Amino acid sequence: MTFKDFNLKEPIQQAIDEAGFTEPSPVQKEAIPLILAGNDIIAQAQTGTGKTAAFGLPMLNMMSGDGSVEGLVIVPTRELAMQVSDEIYRFGKNSNLKTATVYGGTSYDKQIERIKQASVVVATPGRLQDLLAGGRIKLSPKFVVLDEADEMLDMGFLDEITAIFEFIKNEDRQTLMFSATMPPLIRKLAEKILKDPKTVAITKGESTNSKISQNYYVVEEHERDDALVRLIDYKNPAKCIIFCRMKKEVDRLASHLTSQGFKVSVLHGDMEQRQREVAIRGFKSGNVDIFVATDVAARGLDVNDVSHVFNYHMPFDSESYVHRIGRTGRGGKSGEAITLVSPNELRTIKRIEKDVGAQMVTQSIPSKSEVQSSKQDELIAQIASTKITEHAIEIVKTLQHEVDIVAIAHMLASMILDKQEIKGKEKIGFRAEDVEKLLQKAMASRDDRNRRGRSGGGNRGRTSFNKSKSDRGGDRRRDDKPRGDRDRRPSSSSGQGQRSNKPKSDKRG
Ligand code: ADP
Ligand code: MG
Repeated sequence: MTFKDFNLKEPIQQAIDEAGFTEPSPVQKEAIPLILAGNDIIAQAQTGTGKTAAFGLPMLNMMSGDGSVEGLVIVPTRELAMQVSDEIYRFGKNSNLKTATVYGGTSYDKQIERIKQASVVVATPGRLQDLLAGGRIKLSPKFVVLDEADEMLDMGFLDEITAIFEFIKNEDRQTLMFSATMPPLIRKLAEKILKDPKTVAITKGESTNSKISQNYYVVEEHERDDALVRLIDYKNPAKCIIFCRMKKEVDRLASHLTSQGFKVSVLHGDMEQRQREVAIRGFKSGNVDIFVATDVAARGLDVNDVSHVFNYHMPFDSESYVHRIGRTGRGGKSGEAITLVSPNELRTIKRIEKDVGAQMVTQSIPSKSEVQSSKQDELIAQIASTKITEHAIEIVKTLQHEVDIVAIAHMLASMILDKQEIKGKEKIGFRAEDVEKLLQKAMASRDDRNRRGRSGGGNRGRTSFNKSKSDRGGDRRRDDKPRGDRDRRPSSSSGQGQRSNKPKSDKRG
């Protein structure tokens, strides 16, 4: 099946060709014909599966271009508003269908000017409600889209959304709802605003999920920084996003990584819009390799070629996990999601695994010598394939007046190795083969707690904010048992040949 099978108008098909899209994604295959046939729809598909085009293309196709606002797309964040308008602009530009982007933090007058000229308005709920309630704009769109509906409700926009629908005059409108997850609140909202909707549900196997490998590493609480740096050294990500839970953590981690020589930028909710745009642009253009971000800031963020997503801490809930890891593996590419968990968090990761129906694999963090030797192999291969330049020959000739050729080679290799020195201790975290035992212990300790009538933990509020307190509370008990285990752990097992599932270590053998 190709996009041509939808029989879209010529200028739109042309824009699809220019974008380089050939095959429609699963959600596009199902949603586009239903929308073209005039249905309201409620569509569930994970992030990165092409939902924007799924509603954007049929909507643009059915517009008359009469100069009124025919399409209204409501999205949770400013970043997403910009992104979705970019994508819709791309498909609509050959048809002369203009797009206006509407969000808080900027001048009303300019936005109102743009809205007057636009066929499609992409807006965040707060500002849109402001404009409508203040009587500054009137809208009666033929199409209304709620994009990332679950995010909007999570962010507390239910009232704004309900209010917005009071202002929309057109009773004949076609309403389209898109969401990565379908919690009960979403279904309730759908019942209110949709008319005889058709359901599109893309099962997990078909979504990009399968292109994202999901691994987790078990580390002690204090080892997170070291573990992260080691994994970045080892995986060498082209572009990666590291998720933290709090702004404070984002700032601290970013300065730590900067001090380790990485090119880092941050994204969090307290940043001014201008700063956010600059940061995102820098990341997109490749000036920055590592983005350290909070959940809120990174919602829906669409940056191509993110090879790795790191969860410095586990997210609070399964939905956030799905959204976070959806930043990689976009547009049909493969990606890797890596989560750092402490032994205490093993139960939570098992719960998320069950919730999202994913297969997460536990792995051991490569030791310093393993990373060194894999870097060495890379260097040898690189040297062997480097072309010799005239200029280099001159330099070696000059050096040869002082030292012999072998010494020069040694010095050059040392110079390169010096720059890519692997920092940190030899071994970090728990070996993968010990994790099952840790998990059993975590389960047992929960049963233990339940028996004593204490709440079982594992619910979102407690694991997150009361962490340090409950850690301290448990200290006494944990100290007299697992110690011995901790000692037995990796030290003398020397790690060799244990990571046979990893292609990289094969190189050494
Ligand atoms: P979602 O809203 O589901 O998270 P997006 O609409 O942001 O996903 O799409 C993710 C990425 O995939 C975008 O960069 C988009 O341009 C690209 N994309 C969407 N549909 C296709 C397609 N049919 N073929 C190739 N790339 C696509
Ligand atoms: Mg989207």
